[in-house]
Amino acid sequence: MWHVFDMPLGVFIGLAALAGLFIGSWLTLLTHRLPRMMEREWQAQCLDATGAARPAGGAYGLLSPASHCPACNAPVSPKGRIPIVGWILLRGRCAACSAPIGWRYPVIELLTCALFAACAWRFGATPIALAGMGLSATLVALAWIDFESTLLPDVLTQPLLWAGLLVNLFDAFTSLQMAVVGAVAGYLFLWVIFHVFRLLTGREGMGQGDFKLLAALGAWFGVEALPMLLLSASLVGVLIGGALTFSGRASRGQPLPFGPYLALAGLVTLLLGGEQGLWLFMS
Ligand SMILES: [Zn+2]
Repeated sequence: MWHVFDMPLGVFIGLAALAGLFIGSWLTLLTHRLPRMMEREWQAQCLDATGAARPAGGAYGLLSPASHCPACNAPVSPKGRIPIVGWILLRGRCAACSAPIGWRYPVIELLTCALFAACAWRFGATPIALAGMGLSATLVALAWIDFESTLLPDVLTQPLLWAGLLVNLFDAFTSLQMAVVGAVAGYLFLWVIFHVFRLLTGREGMGQGDFKLLAALGAWFGVEALPMLLLSASLVGVLIGGALTFSGRASRGQPLPFGPYLALAGLVTLLLGGEQGLWLFMS
């Protein structure tokens, strides 16, 4: 393991955890706004296609409006924006209208914090650790958005694929050959399953975003990692999907988002690495 950043490992892990808290805080905004931005865009395109005028309204993006309470639009105070601390200070409620803020905020912040610290610990003070943190943050965002809105936005999956090929230019996780083949094979495999399933049942079992996410994971970890990625994601998916159907929280035949399980399998591959790690995770 090569340490290029000149600092003790403990300091690097601490810095990574701190960065994870703030990136996680930004991910709470991204995961909330991105699906809504996509919906607004589709509605605007429908209006354009029918020749109707777009409704006038303020900009809605990642930079504006500033953080506000979705219930009463009151702006969030600077103190309330501090990761974790803000949520505790506000006791999980909006200061203006007392609407509950929800546990998604502290959970995403703590999860990102833990993943960043784990990357720093696993890879040391190296550029690979930074790449792993970027991958972790994107997978957290994708899993959360797919879980809440069954979308896997192209603006996240496509750059993730290119980033995987770029890091493997330097053999970070696998060779460039394995990465290129992994990206193509990941996409094709789910594409074939999708079309066979639709031919046999007339239903669509998964979304196109799943193909792109598996292609991205193939680009990061290489074609050799795909069987274990798919197997573990499917197993966890079947277990959780079965539990949800059994407990009546999801109806039979309702498509369950596959993205969160793929993202989870990707995180486990990143942090435990190789087949040994995944077997450990499964047993
Ligand atoms: Zn409020």
